[in-house]
Amino acid sequence: MRYISTRGKAPSLSFEEAMLTGLARDGGLYVPETIPQVSTDDIAAMSGQSYEDIAFTVMRPFIGETFTDDEFRNLISKAYADFSHDARAPLVQLDQGHFLLELFHGPTLAFKDFAMQLIGQMFQLALGRKRERVTIVGATSGDTGSAAIEAFRGLDNVDVFILYPHGRVSEVQRRQMTTPAESNVHALAVDGDFDACQARLKDMFNDFEFRDGVRLAGVNSINWGRVLAQIVYFFSAAVSLGAPGRAVSFTVPTGNFGDIFAGYIAKRMGLPIADLVVATNQNDILHRCLSGQGYRKGTVHATISPSMDIQVSSNFERALFDAYDRDGAAVSQLMDELSKGGFDVSQGAMQALQDHYRSGRASEAETSATIADMLTRTGELLCPHSAVGVNVANEMRDPAVPMITLATAHPAKFPDAVEAATGIRPPLPPRMADLYERDERLTRVPNDLEALKTHIKGLIRA
Ligand SMILES: *Cc1c(COP(=O)(O)O)cnc(C)c1O
Repeated sequence: MRYISTRGKAPSLSFEEAMLTGLARDGGLYVPETIPQVSTDDIAAMSGQSYEDIAFTVMRPFIGETFTDDEFRNLISKAYADFSHDARAPLVQLDQGHFLLELFHGPTLAFKDFAMQLIGQMFQLALGRKRERVTIVGATSGDTGSAAIEAFRGLDNVDVFILYPHGRVSEVQRRQMTTPAESNVHALAVDGDFDACQARLKDMFNDFEFRDGVRLAGVNSINWGRVLAQIVYFFSAAVSLGAPGRAVSFTVPTGNFGDIFAGYIAKRMGLPIADLVVATNQNDILHRCLSGQGYRKGTVHATISPSMDIQVSSNFERALFDAYDRDGAAVSQLMDELSKGGFDVSQGAMQALQDHYRSGRASEAETSATIADMLTRTGELLCPHSAVGVNVANEMRDPAVPMITLATAHPAKFPDAVEAATGIRPPLPPRMADLYERDERLTRVPNDLEALKTHIKGLIRA
């Protein structure tokens, strides 16, 4: 299995190379050259299997020669051993035909743990046997950073730097990034919003001298390994509700388009998915685009679902690549136009996008009302991101097809918004109950490439 860039100019790579690199050298994102197919019989056989067994079947064709079967099974088993729910990704019923996929039972209480825990294991094995080291720099709107720090803390061959927008993450998110004491992890509070963090990260990757000098690696959702790990729970959830005999739909609270894109890959692999619904908060560039209004940057508004406060969705480039029949030159041109403000999607590509994705948006008031309403009607306490999903799913769903909405974070990660909506302050799970007492360690940094490079070079271990 080879990986090719969405901009058509970088060399193709193996899974191991694509995973350890992150962003392609032509500025593009790596995607698999072909999509492996899972047969109806293979899907049927997943019924009743453990999450780990399903994960092996779904991901194995993508990793090529990078790991042996035994190694890969072992990595998967270690990645999910620390989850606090035996099912890893349990389904809960909300209503007739509407289900919630709880993806928040990992160590940092958000779905990012599914990919990051596995990536941590894969990096450790791949780097250890090559006796190489890397510097991981990541940008986060809150959850990626804590998941990455949790996955890489204390590892010998990685230094980790996480850029997060100062003052724009929740206290729990911040503390999860600033309280680990290991000297190889660093939380950097950037004076800017998430798009600024993401832009500086891209600048570092495009500065080849710096990139090669520190052996830069990326674990943002642009890393194919992240998308890969997220394909699994679309299969496990669909199979629980009767796939392959019955099609299901998914609604995905969306920011950087990584999670929903994993659902699209599951569909392309052969999983019977009826609708894939993109749910956005008031930062709704994706909803506007999928409604035919072009892809145009607006200003980012801070919302109660901060992990979705994004205007430029990195992984949308992967969707565009397929919508433009994998024409790297066309994608390059769109990205050039985007850097000047935005672009229109061609009619053919728009049709292709709308064949695969539907979309909806939830306002702040609707999100809060959904948290309150779900508590009353089901006893389920939703985080604001999951509530955006449930709100949009309720608007869009076809009663004849089971709808699965992804619950992307635990409500205790966003206690202020949940308390404001319901009067109930969700407690942290016991294993992190002392989070508010732990010492914090962070550095304020300007939104400036040179300053960031200097800071990072000064802290990496030889
Ligand atoms: C990251 C995140 C999202 C958005 O996921 P994408 O893959 O970036 O679209 C939604 N909700 C929560 C809680 C998140 O942490």
